[in-house]
Amino acid sequence: MTFVSIENLTFRYNKRQTPIIDNLSFAINKGEIVGIVGASGSGKSTLLRIIAGLEQPEQGSIEVDHKIMMDDTRWVETEQRGVGMVFQDYALFPHLNVADNIGFGLHKLKRSERKQRQQEMLELVQMTDYAKRYPHELSGGQQQRVAMARALAPKPSILLMDEPFSNLDAHLKANIRKELLQILRRADITCLFVSHDQADIEAICEREFCIAANSGGNFCSC
Ligand code: ATP
Ligand code: MG
Repeated sequence: MTFVSIENLTFRYNKRQTPIIDNLSFAINKGEIVGIVGASGSGKSTLLRIIAGLEQPEQGSIEVDHKIMMDDTRWVETEQRGVGMVFQDYALFPHLNVADNIGFGLHKLKRSERKQRQQEMLELVQMTDYAKRYPHELSGGQQQRVAMARALAPKPSILLMDEPFSNLDAHLKANIRKELLQILRRADITCLFVSHDQADIEAICEREFCIAANSGGNFCSC
């Protein structure tokens, strides 16, 4: 059953450009994990940023669960959309420790539930021990893992992930991929997953969209 429906989306960063996304339409089912691949600069991040509500397209509509989230004139707050995101330029809150970064979006939960969710997420990103010992001293890859945990913690209905493993070594990545897949399945989270690594896509995604360079974001069978 269609969960996310995108129709006739057109976007450019400025009026003089040809559109980065040009009249793009596609649909994704509830709980589906879809890979998005394509050359650098083809528009993958731009597409996720639009779905997240961070960019305003000049035309098109986005429906989630048959509710209009965005059309040419109307917007719904990102939080109401239930969208979680891990972007290439993720940033943590520097004054918060690891657990509080992960718990940031969980203010509506009871304290005990929040603690439990934080714990689950620390396990997912394999940082339980480290976060106890060094809650503020994080490498690039550790920060990336915390950003992933923070995005997943509120169990969003849609998760947008843009190269979430780019700073992780192969061993860690393989472990986290497995755990991530289980969490997505268990919580029935619909996921758009951008990666340059075909192994990531094959390990996690059920379907794959490829954006050809200079195609206006349109999918091909490359
Ligand atoms: P990568 O694989 O390198 O992350 P991508 O597929 O995610 O690439 P985007 O970041 O979506 O590509 O960029 C698509 C196009 O939009 C590129 O040509 C890029 O130069 C342009 N672009 C991206 N961000 C901006 C911006 N803020 N202003 C103007 N042009 C931009
Ligand atoms: Mg990108």
